[in-house]
Amino acid sequence: MSAIIRIEHLTRVFDVSKPWLNRVIERLPKALLTAVSDVSFEIEENSVYALVGESGSGKSTIGKIVVGLVPPSDGHVKIEGVDLATETDRDKVEAVRADIQMIFQDPYASLNPRWRVREVINEPVSAKGGDVTGLAEKLLEQVGLSAKDAAKYPHEFSGGQRQRICIARALASGPKIIVCDEPTSALDVSVQAQVLNLMSDLRKELGLTYLFISHDLTVVQHMADKIGVLYLGRLVEEAPRDRLFDAPKHPYTQMLFAAAPRMDGFGREVEPPKGEIPDAINPPTGCAFHPRCPIAVDRCSKERPEMRKIGDTRVACHLAE
Ligand code: SF4
Ligand code: MG
Repeated sequence: MSAIIRIEHLTRVFDVSKPWLNRVIERLPKALLTAVSDVSFEIEENSVYALVGESGSGKSTIGKIVVGLVPPSDGHVKIEGVDLATETDRDKVEAVRADIQMIFQDPYASLNPRWRVREVINEPVSAKGGDVTGLAEKLLEQVGLSAKDAAKYPHEFSGGQRQRICIARALASGPKIIVCDEPTSALDVSVQAQVLNLMSDLRKELGLTYLFISHDLTVVQHMADKIGVLYLGRLVEEAPRDRLFDAPKHPYTQMLFAAAPRMDGFGREVEPPKGEIPDAINPPTGCAFHPRCPIAVDRCSKERPEMRKIGDTRVACHLAE
């Protein structure tokens, strides 16, 4: 197995100052929000890597950086060895871009209502002058819809069907990697499992790699091979799925799992979540989790814990042993 995606020391800072306020109050410092802070991980080809965390943990920002919608402030994303931010060979960049697609949370917002489904699905290929003969029809059948749906408009479909159309469009250019940002969280619970199963089947059939972004641990447990847990833009723990669910090492992961609805064989005695997520503009010093951590010691507010490898887990906590 080799890594198809390598993320190295990725950082993204957003300027969230209000210009009008800066004009009124002289020398007001810029408000900078560090959405992603020094995150490194790798995704093996033909696997599912899930990023989990509460809202504001930076998972969507990482997804957008990986597909090239948001540039990093620092660090690197290498896809098939190519760094999209610095690569100067345009052919290489184009080839990698065609290999990576994204599926968003809201299938309503991401489909152009004026286009027939055929145009929607074919667009990523037709825009580059590619041959789209029979393409939409073939893809519609592949995602469990019918070839004749190609002539309809998005509003004629249910939420689950629309997400299938988004999946078909993502597959049109024959990608190797799909970044899925909460792909089922806008759907009725009754259709979530169907869409997830479709995504699993397509991955096996087509040899795809998924970066799967979710706040829903049940969904992640169903889909992921490996899981990275984010807190305030930092990766705090990473482990193979079963390892993480059986024995989470980081106090935040333990807290997150304790807050989730309990599943069979998954009921640990952990403190329920306490306190709000702190302000990402002024994150806590040292370990960003220390104000909420039930076992914090003195050192935790002073020193930022490095990611350390313990067995098949990587964990950023001074007390991980
Ligand atoms: Fe808690 Fe300290 Fe570990 Fe952070 S480093 S999770 S505060 S024990
Ligand atoms: Mg999000």
